[in-house]
Amino acid sequence: MRAADAVSPVHRSPGDHALLRYRRLGPVSYALPVTVVRDSDVVMLWLQPGTPTRKRVMPDGSSIPRDFPYAERAALPHVVGEGTWTTNHALILVRDGDPCDIRLFWSESWEFKGWYVNLQDPVRRVPTGWDTADHVLDLWVDPGGRWAWKDEHEFAEAIRIGRFSETEAEAIRAAGRAVIPKIEAQVWPFDRSLIEWRPDPGWSMPGMPDDWNAD
Ligand code: MG
Repeated sequence: MRAADAVSPVHRSPGDHALLRYRRLGPVSYALPVTVVRDSDVVMLWLQPGTPTRKRVMPDGSSIPRDFPYAERAALPHVVGEGTWTTNHALILVRDGDPCDIRLFWSESWEFKGWYVNLQDPVRRVPTGWDTADHVLDLWVDPGGRWAWKDEHEFAEAIRIGRFSETEAEAIRAAGRAVIPKIEAQVWPFDRSLIEWRPDPGWSMPGMPDDWNAD
């Protein structure tokens, strides 16, 4: 099924393909094809290594160097081009209204690497899947349960260049702080119960649908 054939809101079945997309004010800047694991109060999405993506790239199609300072990267001319999700399996847990998703990461050979709290706008269901906008700041939780803020410096730069107002920034920090007691108390999904999760071996690799940037 092409994603555009679905009408929002749509209930998806295990094994269906959909897109998790990032867009702030305008066009899609990042699109991840995922496999639906479960579509219920907590949506579970599997992102597998080798998945084709759409992401911001230089106008000639080359990658934007990750070591460029954030403000310079943000100001670079760019287009949305082809990429590939590499290295990790991710199980992405999304709940309506939450200002973050929570991801479990494994290596390609399913060695558990930790949890990632991706601070973002509450997701919106759209015909292609789910849309959100990234908030730059994240939390990382190692397999032993030790947590740390991630990308604080980039977040500070994003505030400095006006991507987030101070009020927005404080709400983003507060959203992260609200997760910390759950991490420390090992509340689901930080209770290790999903570490042995594996995808259905019959599921296929999602491709990039033609309508990846449809509204
Ligand atoms: Mg993030």
